[in-house]
Amino acid sequence: MSVRVRPSAPEYKEVRIQSDMITLKCPNCGAESKLSFVEKDYVGPRRCWKCHEFFTIKIENNELKSCEPLSQEEFERQQEIEALKAKFKKPSSD
Ligand SMILES: [Zn+2]
Repeated sequence: MSVRVRPSAPEYKEVRIQSDMITLKCPNCGAESKLSFVEKDYVGPRRCWKCHEFFTIKIENNELKSCEPLSQEEFERQQEIEALKAKFKKPSSD
């Protein structure tokens, strides 16, 4: 029985300038704000810098998919969830 070793395929080095900046336009007042994300998929709370409305934004593949109004209560709850998530994401200390 022979094991065929496949020659390693030439690797495609993808050189892409990734734009991780997203322009978020507030549906309430139209104010634009630029966000930068490490993850290309993101769902989380957000507050408009101008009108101070709360929103839930949803980003998929670096594109803003939705921006929904949020009550302050809900915003705070979501922030708590985000804080919890961040806690669990802590890099291992060893
Ligand atoms: Zn606004």
